[in-house]
Order: sequence, then C-alpha cells, then structure tokens
Amino acid sequence: MIEKARKYLQEYFGYPSFREGQREIIENVLEGKNTLGIMPTGGGKSICFQIPALCFEGVTLVISPLISLMKDQIDALNTIQIPATYINSSLDWIEIEERISMARQGEYKLIYIAPERLGSGDFLERLGRMDISMVAVDEAHCISSWGHDFRPSYRLISKLMDSLKPRPIVTAFTATATKEVRFDINDLLSINKRDTFITGFDRPNLNFKVITGEDKREFIEEYLEVNKDDSGIIYANTRKEVEALYEFLKGKDYKVGKYHGGMNHQERKAIQEGFIYDKLKIIVATNAFGMGIDKSNVRYVIHHNMPKNLEAYYQEAGRAGRDGEFSECILLFSPADIRIPKFFIDQSNLSGERKEYEYEKLQRMVDYSYTNQCLRHFILDYFGEMGMGEGCDNCSNCNGSNELEEVTVEAQKILSCVYKLKGKFGVGVVAGVLKGSKRKQILNRNLHKLSTYGIMSGYRIKDIKNMINFLIAEGYIILTNSKYSVVKLSSTASPVLKGEKKVYHKVRDKVTKISVKDELFESLRKLRANLAEEEKVPPYVIFQDSTLKELASKLPSDKDQLLKVKGMGIVKYRKYGQIFLEEIEKYLDKKRKRASRRAKGDETPSHMISCKLYQDGKTVKEISKDRGLATTTIESHLIRGASEGLELDLVSLVPEDYKKLIISKLKEDDTGKLKPIKEALPDEVSYFHIKIMKNYA
Ligand code: ADP
Repeated sequence: MIEKARKYLQEYFGYPSFREGQREIIENVLEGKNTLGIMPTGGGKSICFQIPALCFEGVTLVISPLISLMKDQIDALNTIQIPATYINSSLDWIEIEERISMARQGEYKLIYIAPERLGSGDFLERLGRMDISMVAVDEAHCISSWGHDFRPSYRLISKLMDSLKPRPIVTAFTATATKEVRFDINDLLSINKRDTFITGFDRPNLNFKVITGEDKREFIEEYLEVNKDDSGIIYANTRKEVEALYEFLKGKDYKVGKYHGGMNHQERKAIQEGFIYDKLKIIVATNAFGMGIDKSNVRYVIHHNMPKNLEAYYQEAGRAGRDGEFSECILLFSPADIRIPKFFIDQSNLSGERKEYEYEKLQRMVDYSYTNQCLRHFILDYFGEMGMGEGCDNCSNCNGSNELEEVTVEAQKILSCVYKLKGKFGVGVVAGVLKGSKRKQILNRNLHKLSTYGIMSGYRIKDIKNMINFLIAEGYIILTNSKYSVVKLSSTASPVLKGEKKVYHKVRDKVTKISVKDELFESLRKLRANLAEEEKVPPYVIFQDSTLKELASKLPSDKDQLLKVKGMGIVKYRKYGQIFLEEIEKYLDKKRKRASRRAKGDETPSHMISCKLYQDGKTVKEISKDRGLATTTIESHLIRGASEGLELDLVSLVPEDYKKLIISKLKEDDTGKLKPIKEALPDEVSYFHIKIMKNYA
C-alpha cells in the first residue's frame, strides 16, 4: 500500500519522497490504525491524511475549524484533480443537499466539514448514509481544554464516531506537543498512545532572531524598507497595538492589512484573501490571524511583542517558510511586554493550578528572550527534542553579530538619573530629563534642577529610550508591574555606578534582504499570477515559490526534466507544464540574443534593431517572431524610431479603409487624448494606427 501512497505523492503532489515522519504516519494509517500525528507548523500534515484518503475506498471526512479557508483548501485539491468538496455555513441548504447526494454516489474522496455541523442530529444521520472510510481531525488540539484554541464543538467528534457504523479510522493532527494536549486527544478520540507519532520539530529553513532593547518601529521600518517585496506577518499583542502599527505602516505607503478580533467577518475575510492572493504583502495582526493559513511563501514573521508561551510563538513563527525556503522569525523583545500576557493569566478564570502552569510557560518564553544559547536548541529542548549537538548556525545567538560596543558612560548617566528620580517615574520622564526636555511634566516638577538634567542632550530621545530599555533587559534597571510602570535601580547597578563594572551592548546586525530574486523567477511569478487570476485561486495553489525557484535555477527544457522539479506532479505538468517550458525558453532565447549582441560588440539600442529590420523589408510580425518580442513592443519601437527622425514608411501599415476615418476623428477631438478617439473607431483600429495617422500621415 505504501508504494501506492508514494506513487500518489509523486503524481498528484509532485514530491519525490515523504518528509520525516510522513511515511511512518501514513503507513500506520494504511494499516487501519487510529493515528495521532504531531508535526510542527509547515511540517506537512495535510498529506498525511490526503494520501490515505486517496488509497482508501469511500470518502474521508476532514474536520477543520477554519470555514473561511475551506474553499482555498478545496481549490488546491481540485487543481491537482483530487475530487473534494466542503460543507459549511457559507452554503445554502440546496447546495448542501447536492453535495451530500454526490458524496453518497462516491463522487468525492474528501469532504471538509466544520465541527459545529456535528451538533445537528439530522446531519449526523445523513453522514451515516455515506461510505466513510476515515475521519481526519485537523488542528486536533482544539479538542483539548489544555490547548490554546479550545473549541467546545470539537467534543462533538466523539458523538460522530459513535454514530458511524462501521466505525471509520480516526486520524488527528496538530502542532501542539504538550503532554496534556496529547493525552486528551488520545483519550477523546480513542487513539492508542503507541500510535502517536511526534516528528522532528526542527524547521531548518527558519532563522530565529531575538532583538532586545531596540526601538521596535524603527527596526520594522528598516526591515520593511529592505524586504518590502516579500510577504510577512507582524504580530502584536493587542488590538490597539495592531491599529497603531497598521496606521504607521499605511502612512508609509506599504501594502499592508490589519486583522484582529474586533473587525467584522467581512473585513477579516477580505484581508485574509488579500494576503493569500498576494495583493497585500504585510499583515499586522493579533494572534487571531493565521491558524490554517497555509500560504507557503510567508518570508518573515515578526513578533512586535512576546507571546504568552513558546507553543504559541513556535506556531505563529512557523507560519514563515512553509515552502522550505529561507525565512526569518524575529522576536522584538522588551521587558515591558511581559505585563500583557501576565495580565491575561491574572485575569483569567483558570484554577490556581492551571494559572501556575501558564505562569511557568510564560517564564520559559521570557527565558527564550534572554538566553545566550542557540535559540533553535532552546525551542527544540522545550518540545522535548534533545541532543542537537553544537549550535545551529542559523539564529541570532549562533551567527549574529559578536561586535560589542562599550556603553559604560551612557549607562552610568542613565543609572544615576534613575537613582535621582527615586523610583517615581517611567521611562519617558527619565529619557526627558537626560535629554534636557522642556516638557511641562518635567519643569512643573522641578526636574530640570537635577544634576542629571540634560547630560545626554546630544542624543536623540529615541536612542536614550532604547538605551534605558537595554538596561532594563540586562537587569540593571527594574520596571515595576504596577499600572503606571516606573523604573528603579536593581542591586546590579551599583558596581556600574562605582566604575567597577563595564557595560557592553551587542551591535545589532544590519537588516539584509531575505530573498534574492532573478529575472526569470520574476517572469515565472507573473505568469503564475495571471494563471491564478484566470482560475480564481491563490497563486501558491498553482506552484509554490520553491517550485518557481527550482525552475529558474534548473532551467528544464523537456517533460522529463520538468517532472524532476519538486512540486511538479504529472497532473500539474499536464495543466501547466508546456506554458512554463515556453516561458523558460523565451527567457533563454532573450539571454542568448543579449549575449550574442554583446559578443559582437553590438550595443545598438533595441528599438533601432527593430527599425533596421523594418527598413530591410520585414513585417512587424516577422520582426516580432525573429526577436522573440511582442508585436506591440515592435510597434512601439517603430514609433520611437520615427519620432527620432528615422526614415520609416509607417502610414502603409494603417488599413486603407480607415485612414480617412481616423483623420476625421482626430480633427473632431481637440483634447489631444487618444482614448476617446480609439473608442469612437472600430475595434480593428489600434492605438498604433492612430498614432501613425496623428504624427506621420
Ligand atoms: P502543516 O499543515 O503541517 O502546517 P502543510 O500540510 O500545509 O503543513 O505542508 C506544508 C508545506 O510542505 C506545503 O506547502 C506542502 O506542499 C509541503 N510538503 C508537504 N509534504 C512534502 C514533501 N513530502 N515534500 C516536499 N514538500 C512537502
């Protein structure tokens, strides 16, 4: 059976081999055993139930919490000709009836349903009449109240299983690895513990960075300036922060969208689609965004604030780089951020024991932010994967800058100012005093009389604040947790003030470009965007970036070579193979021509070459074919040549029947605009013809 599965993997999905864990899970499922698969986000869970669904007789029910994404998931399956559909509240009852009746006739291999549906006895009864071989539970942690996304309707799955006769196989998938959640899933879905597969949590293509004590907006701005062409998500902890950051970036003209629970369904859907369809490059969001977004080319995930634990962090950060390409996960840490998740735990109505558990997890997240160890090891260790050996060489602690800058004098100035303010003020006032600000808040309280007033007047207020944040992060200054946070000295400040200890600040690495794209990659991306537009599916459903990248580097020239490219199965080859081969050939042709021109030392501008060929008696069509350029490009070359004074007989290119008509329309319109004239003429008359009659007749 596994051979059949491997064949499907190649034919439908275009992948030559299973990833770590996929083969074991699929084998277990194919042996008819209930199975739980725990894989990191982006690890490849979907294939673990989609391929068995193809191997089994009958239909597989997929329980998924994400109604808004079901359509895209189904589109992706239909694109590779896997018969699948979904049933959720976006359909009216006639459509639902139709789909159920088609399912009964065996028309689908997979049906995605929302768990809420299972509340209806009538619906369960209808499902009972289908031939269901497997029930696959996606995002299975939603069944556990220990999980971070508990959904009561997931508990209805047990009811579904009891109602189906014979009882189908259950498979469950999640990225949450904590023991509590795992055991809950085992229990509630009757999956044996020995049929639980926890696959490697490492995502080698993700680069992890923690950036501490920096001005966050300044960093984000610098980052986007360099990486504005790539897709990314910026997470913030509160709606208010999302709104503020969104306005800031929008004001800078970025293609940005916002997403949080305070927006209505329509708005959220539009933003999600804008992102999936590559119309919006950046999403600023709370953690409400992203579950199930399987957009594969998210190149970076920046956390503007620290999330409440490492599970949430790894899940959110893991939305980067599903296509296996290099991507960045950046945590912008400031100690003040601990307050919000702590506040949420404080205010929750969890039991004392559960609160302790959540505090502990929050502390591990804080430890991650401060650690000097390899960040990847820290995460994997947390998820129970030990023994990774040396550092990963792909995180800010392993290969970030080692350059240190001494800031002892600045630290002493700040620390003495904090001391003089006697723990009564926050970061803003301390920075204002050091800068020598004339703000009322400072003058009214006579703070301008302090000896530290204005001792850092040469610094920008922003840089002073950054430095204070850095000293907080290093533990020299304590930020209190009260409602109006104030700062005071910790015991470690004293040796610095006495000149016994020096303070060093790690110089942050310059932001670099995440991905370098070349000319062919860009034209393949355009071709993919056009196809996606025609088929009304997200671009990554046609091909992932990684496939385009491989096409652009391997330059396949025939079917055999094309089928070796990852992501190019036979189904996609039949649909798109030829058109992509043609695009590659067009690019190579252009390159060859450029090279031969260079070899001949022929630096003649392109339009002059077209004009020369035209003067030699070739038609526009012939020139277009010879040069591998569009006819409209050749036409614009000829117009440009004529405007530069070349002797070209262009009037003969205008159909005789229309010449007079064009002239009369040109005379009637004195706006100088061509559009109204074009609209007033028959379709056969092109802009090219009008321009000729206007300027050269
Ligand atoms: P998850 O649901 O675990 O977050 P997905 O199922 O969306 O992850 O898979 C993540 C990406 O990995 C998808 O783009 C998928 O096409 C790709 N993928 C899955 N299995 C393989 C494989 N065996 N070889 C190459 N790519 C794969």
